[in-house]
Amino acid sequence: MTFKELGLSDNLLKAIAEKGYTKPSTIQEKAIPLVLKGKDLLASAQTGTGKTAGFTLPILQLLAETRHPKYRPIRALILTPTRELAAQIYDNIREYSKHLDIRTTVIFGGVKPKKQIDSIRRGIDILVATPGRLIDLESQNKLSLNRVDYLVLDEADRMLDMGFQRDINKILALLPKKRQNLLFSATFSKEIKKLANGFLHHPVMVEAEPENSTVEKIIQKAYRTDKSKKTALIIKLISDGNWQQVLVFTRTKHGANRLCKKMISKGIKAAAIHGNKSQAARTKALAGFKDSTVRVLVATDIAARGLDIPLLPHVINYELPNIAEDYVHRIGRTGRAGANGEAISLVSSDEVAYLKAIEKLLKQKLISTVIEGYEPSEITPDNEKPKTKEQKLDEQRQRQQRRKNRLAKPNAKKEKGQYSKSNKSRNRNKSHKKR
Ligand code: AMP
Repeated sequence: MTFKELGLSDNLLKAIAEKGYTKPSTIQEKAIPLVLKGKDLLASAQTGTGKTAGFTLPILQLLAETRHPKYRPIRALILTPTRELAAQIYDNIREYSKHLDIRTTVIFGGVKPKKQIDSIRRGIDILVATPGRLIDLESQNKLSLNRVDYLVLDEADRMLDMGFQRDINKILALLPKKRQNLLFSATFSKEIKKLANGFLHHPVMVEAEPENSTVEKIIQKAYRTDKSKKTALIIKLISDGNWQQVLVFTRTKHGANRLCKKMISKGIKAAAIHGNKSQAARTKALAGFKDSTVRVLVATDIAARGLDIPLLPHVINYELPNIAEDYVHRIGRTGRAGANGEAISLVSSDEVAYLKAIEKLLKQKLISTVIEGYEPSEITPDNEKPKTKEQKLDEQRQRQQRRKNRLAKPNAKKEKGQYSKSNKSRNRNKSHKKR
């Protein structure tokens, strides 16, 4: 199957060729013809499947075919949970639409709204937005959504996880009743199905696994070590291997900052990306990582969600996540686009319980070894270790912080990626308590 056979116009085919895509991905093959036919979609696809082009290409085509010669109301609205994802989708649309007379803007919180308002005022066809800023600007009459023909909810499961349900309902109420709806989600919980039933009209279900579905193509290794040796070990691994593009995960924002500083002091160009960083700093770090001026990007789970970093050869878990599913999200960043990748976890003795939970979820054991000179002072037997007092306190603190954030300033905080106590996170906590 080729892009031409999917029914895309010459102007789009030209932009696709310039992007270097030679053939459509599975989700694109399935979704593009359906969207062009005007169907509502319920699509199961994660980052890495090519889903963004799957919905933006046909929407661009439909918009270009029916655009009013003078008048530009917002006709397509793309909602995403995070600022980074919004910015990525916007960049993609700009590239795909470079031979079309279609204008796009992106809006999100954390930056001053003036530029966003100005560009909306000049007239746009497509708006990419996070829910909080969209509602803010709409309530100030800075934009109108009453001519929207196409609505996309991207990463809908994350939006619900982050507590955006009420905002989504508010936004839906601002849109015309007659429109085409596309919902993308990596998972299909009861909540997602309920949301989908609430606004999709006879949707067609499409599914796609990531092109190189996680686990098989990724070489996963665990190095057992001590907490105090992790920084030296990670620097050794990156230097000895001469790795040039490495994504490192830490569990906390402070941990990310500390590690980043240490690397810089050792001459490794590193940047950190997490919820306490300004939008400008996050964008700069990500851009530096993509253009290889930043060699190591140190990230927390929430900051890294949905980031599109193509062809990443190395992911390192400086600390294991305390939610096993997050491990799968983390390592899904490597071995993209058919290439093999390597995911390395540094595991100290207090993290053995997390490792067990991950192995249970993956239904496979990781290759667990040590590196000479960095061995743990005490090897924990594999047959389980109770959680330490520190671990329990750490979890309790994280739960309290999330609760505080939610109570403090729901909208502003949510855009920074804080969880609300959705059923999913409640279940996660429950299942975690069991471990
Ligand atoms: P996404 O899942 O939309 O985040 O896309 C993941 C990555 O795949 C992005 O870097 C896209 O530019 C890239 N991509 C999307 N479609 C194709 C395609 N047909 N061929 C090659 N790369 C693609």
